[in-house]
Amino acid sequence: MKSMSYYVIGVDMGATNIVCVLSSKDGEIITRDTSKTLGSEGKEKTISQIINSAKNVLKEGEKLGVSAKSILGMGIGGPGPINSDDGIIYIAPNIPGWINTSLAEELGNELELPVFLENDANAAALGEWWLGAGKGVNNLVLLTLGTGIGGGIIINGEILYGAGHVAGEIGHMVIKEGGLLCSCGNHGCLEAYTSAKSVVNRTLAEIKEGRKTLLTDIVDNRMEKITCKLVFDTAKKGDGLCKKIVEDTAKYLGTGIINIVNIINPQMVILGGGMAKAGDFFFDPIKEYVKEHAFNESTKGVKIVPAALGSNAGAIGAVAFVLKKKGLLNKADCFDSNIIELSET
Ligand SMILES: [Zn+2]
Repeated sequence: MKSMSYYVIGVDMGATNIVCVLSSKDGEIITRDTSKTLGSEGKEKTISQIINSAKNVLKEGEKLGVSAKSILGMGIGGPGPINSDDGIIYIAPNIPGWINTSLAEELGNELELPVFLENDANAAALGEWWLGAGKGVNNLVLLTLGTGIGGGIIINGEILYGAGHVAGEIGHMVIKEGGLLCSCGNHGCLEAYTSAKSVVNRTLAEIKEGRKTLLTDIVDNRMEKITCKLVFDTAKKGDGLCKKIVEDTAKYLGTGIINIVNIINPQMVILGGGMAKAGDFFFDPIKEYVKEHAFNESTKGVKIVPAALGSNAGAIGAVAFVLKKKGLLNKADCFDSNIIELSET
């Protein structure tokens, strides 16, 4: 019997971009296709975009010697809540008309491949666990700091789903009773304090209160031009208000991480998304705050680190999900041997 190469398609179906990769079973990206998500044009448009992307990478792969019969399946990281057992996206907040869609079945029929669906934050966590910042770490938590806050929890090398497949909604952990209004309708959620949108809103509120900042000159008094990145960049220049906003954000995020660390006792907390690119300037105050306030025993050995896979995390994680579903990817404690070789029969 001869060992044969197998390949997997991984898709990250984001609100902004669709990222599709053709990957080897070791996570080597053979080819990649990206497009802007045309979510506002409705569900059918998004589905046809995913199909086109998959067909593009298959065609490109074929040119590079990847035959159709060596494709094991396709994984998709999509907006949650998702039940990965039945392949249904219950609702996609940014795509009109997307309710109870059997996406896995629909795509599977069209592409004649087994298709597996997973929540996007879980997929990103799986990607970082397999080949990213968490390689070799079997207990970790990923937080994606973007427009919203995504969360994925890996326990003993497996995604934590909970009873109704909605575990890991870390963004909606309440950190301040009766606090700021969150996108979910509740008050005081972590997301209401630490998302990119919240950073901008908290800055605008302070400016409205009369706090002086370099920002007003930088954007020429056009407040709609203030972005989260601009607040962070201006803080690095020493601006008092922006520094306070970044420090507050670090404390709020630190509070969320303390709760995670105290409850789950992970080896690693990985921070992804735009804000996580700010470096030590942002990570140092978070680490300090966590060390100071978390239960002493829980913080021993826990690392707080930036994500490593960037915009590929979701797609790579979707590949990992297929390998897991097929029983080909196990605990990462020994990376070289964690892939069980398939044999040609
Ligand atoms: Zn919330």
